[in-house]
Amino acid sequence: MNFSVQPELPVAVIGAGPVGLAAAAHLAERGVPFVVFEAGAGVAAAVRQWGHVTFFSPWRFNVDSAAGRLLEQTGWTMPDQDRDPTGQELIDNYLSPLAALPGIAPHIRYGARVAAVTRQGMDRVPSKGREQRPFEVSVELADGRHERMLARAVIDASGTWSAPNPAGANGIPALGEKESSSRISTGIPDVYGNERKRYAGKRVMVIGSGHSAMDSILNLVRLKKEEPATEIIWAMRSRPTDKTFGGGADDQLANRGALGGRAKAAISAGNVSVEAPFRAQGFSLTKDSVEISDETGRKVIADEVIVATGFRPDFSMLSEIRLDLHPWLECTRTLGPLIDPNEHSCGDVPPHGVKELTQPENNFFIVGMKSYGRAPTFLMATGYEQVRSVVAALAGDMEAALDTKLVLPQTGVCEGPGRGEEGGCCGGPALSRADACCTADAIAKDAGKSGCGCAAAGRC
Ligand SMILES: Cc1cc2nc3c(=O)[nH]c(=O)nc-3n(C[C@H](O)[C@H](O)[C@H](O)COP(=O)(O)OP(=O)(O)OC[C@H]3O[C@@H](n4cnc5c(N)ncnc54)[C@H](O)[C@@H]3O)c2cc1C
Repeated sequence: MNFSVQPELPVAVIGAGPVGLAAAAHLAERGVPFVVFEAGAGVAAAVRQWGHVTFFSPWRFNVDSAAGRLLEQTGWTMPDQDRDPTGQELIDNYLSPLAALPGIAPHIRYGARVAAVTRQGMDRVPSKGREQRPFEVSVELADGRHERMLARAVIDASGTWSAPNPAGANGIPALGEKESSSRISTGIPDVYGNERKRYAGKRVMVIGSGHSAMDSILNLVRLKKEEPATEIIWAMRSRPTDKTFGGGADDQLANRGALGGRAKAAISAGNVSVEAPFRAQGFSLTKDSVEISDETGRKVIADEVIVATGFRPDFSMLSEIRLDLHPWLECTRTLGPLIDPNEHSCGDVPPHGVKELTQPENNFFIVGMKSYGRAPTFLMATGYEQVRSVVAALAGDMEAALDTKLVLPQTGVCEGPGRGEEGGCCGGPALSRADACCTADAIAKDAGKSGCGCAAAGRC
């Protein structure tokens, strides 16, 4: 690793979301020249699209340390640190004031989409002298013009919001999915607010089982209370178990824990009908609805479909950059084993920074939501520690760069080696199995194991 190439050139940050702006704050604080490229017309264009959603992490986890210090110098104070903001509140009360600081504002370019990153005069193949070449960042401006800029390092904080997973359970769009796009939306549409008209009184299918799906389900239930003709169908790939609904009261983020409990209660109350297992395979538009079929041939008719099956990173702008990615999560390879949802569901990861985020391309880093690839448990606090460490390294402060610290709230549903014995988070009473003493025990038994080990440890 050689962090001191062309110190006179700026560091290019891709994306002015929470993590890109945190990188800007650390760069500004350390006096390192930088430019932030943001595709949207203002800060946090991705968060803005889900501005109506309430975060499940309270303010104290959502403000980066350097950003907080810089803002406090202007008299800013953190809103109630124990309250969960909405996405829009995060923008209005934190990200916009941060982006407006005199040490940051002149260095952000809005309406500037990074189309490609490469080494000046070199594609991906040549090795000789590669590290000495600056990066060349190709930027597409809102008016269609293109610009090129040289940078000594690149921090890719472009998130994954623009690349939602398809409905197709096999990872590719289901047959007819694209052709049915007029009746499909992705992410978390504002069904109770801006988009109420589209969903009120309609038969709506939500596909997915994560927090985004639950959020849509609960907002549709709210809508149904006022528009009783609204029908809600929840399609999940697997039959729901305790794990599906999270850690409840054992989740260290109360709002995240409550989300699952409320979603489960909505099913019990008969407000939501569940289709599971349902592995979407085909969509077919009819005159005034859409028919969704699964791989067993089962068919469900809906007026609208909300696909909330998660996100994946888009590497198209990085075709000339040397990357070492985890084979199935597409995150930085060393992070994979720490966040693989096949193994872990706790939501906590060990502290990590520049060492773990280093790519074969010297001075190129993927941070933030994108650093987790397809893994679903990313928290902003993780990204803030990542950029603190990366920027410290770029500023030559290796002691600070390698001294990573991170304490994340656990989900209360912790699987993975040793969790039962050490983690102390059993996820509350088991709901799906009479022979399990807690949620973690039920998950272990569902997976064919003898249990999670907490009974033997005397904790159940
Ligand atoms: C609905 C939802 C709820 C969440 N709730 C929480 C929570 O409660 N707590 C928590 O800690 N985390 C939460 N997360 C996870 C995560 O922390 C957020 O998604 C967070 O916004 C990630 O920040 P980021 O800066 O990495 O990416 P983003 O917020 O996605 O920002 C990326 C930015 O890059 C820009 N961009 C993209 N491509 C380009 C390009 N080519 N050129 C220039 N700019 C580009 C985008 O316009 C965007 O502004 C949630 C995520 C979602 C989707």
